[in-house]
Parts: sequence; C-alpha cells; structure tokens
Amino acid sequence: MAEKPQPVRVLYCGTCSLPPEYCEFGPDFEKCKPWLIQNVPDLYPDLVKEANEKEAGKAANQLKNTSISSGSDDGAASSAPKQEAVKRLPGGKVKKKEKQEVVIEKVIRNKRKCITTVKGLELFGVKLSDASKKLGKKFATGASVVKGPTEKEQIDVQGDISYDIVEFITETWPDVPETSIFFIEDGRKVPAA
Ligand SMILES: [Zn+2]
Repeated sequence: MAEKPQPVRVLYCGTCSLPPEYCEFGPDFEKCKPWLIQNVPDLYPDLVKEANEKEAGKAANQLKNTSISSGSDDGAASSAPKQEAVKRLPGGKVKKKEKQEVVIEKVIRNKRKCITTVKGLELFGVKLSDASKKLGKKFATGASVVKGPTEKEQIDVQGDISYDIVEFITETWPDVPETSIFFIEDGRKVPAA
C-alpha cells in the first residue's frame, strides 16, 4: 500500500489472473470478488457496497440476538414471549403500560460508526425533536429522531456520548430522575445512578 507510485501499474487478479476489469467475464467471478474488494474497490463499487450491506446485516442480527438473550435472563422468561406476541398483532394498537425510564445504548454500526441511542425521554414529557436538537448541539454531533426496531421513536446520536449524557439529561430535564436512567451494557440493563 505504501509503495512508491509507479507510472504504469499492470495489475492482475490474484484469483483468476485476468486484468481485474475482465474478472466479471472470467471463469469464476464469485471467487474473484473478495480479491477485487480488497485490491481494486474503485473498479467495482457495487461489490463493495454489497459487502458493506452484508456486514451491516450481520451486525443487526447480532444485536437482535443479544437483546433476545438479555430478555430471557431477566427472570420473567416465561411471560416475555407472550408479550412479544401481543405486540405483533397486526392492525389493532395494543397499548401496554410502560415503565417510565430512559434507556441509553451504545451501538456500533458498520464496524466503526458508533451511535448512542436514547429511548424513553418522551415518557417524561420531553419532546423528542426538541431533545434531539439539544443533544446534537451540546455534543456537537448529528442527532435525529428515528423509529426503533419496535416502531417506537428514539433518538440516535452520532458518536459515543454515553459517559456525559446522564448529567446532561438530568440538568436539561429535571423531571427525569437519575434513578430512571439505564444503560444497556453487553445486553444487560445497568442503572446509571
Ligand atoms: Zn479475477
């Protein structure tokens, strides 16, 4: 990678030894793909995109798995699946009484991109669009209101702000007691206070 720039660089695919432009017409394009992504990503931007999407999908699946497993060591294992089923009923809105708490979770997306999700502020009468603006401004980063996995709105803040966010929340919205703020760490809910 750190080689001297060379005026003419003839490059052949490490897999099929065709010039990389011809790999897609070569004997086994599938096998060439990893080499192409590694060595000539500019030539095949679609492959790189595809590979990134796969990674993102994997990460999402892992997240799903951790949240499922954390649910089951809650002690309420037997009742949890039932509640899930109720939530997923098509059409009719099921209004469940919700625990009043703010839940903060650090999520890594695409390997490097870290975001901090904040859920539950609306339960304390905080307007999410307003909170999102304030968080973005305070931490000089991007923040937006998005729909989470269960269609409930949450705030996504770019970057890891989990260490300063509790103080900011309790100072900005005094109605939110520190004892109602939780972190998700390794799939477990941990009180912030
Ligand atoms: Zn090839």
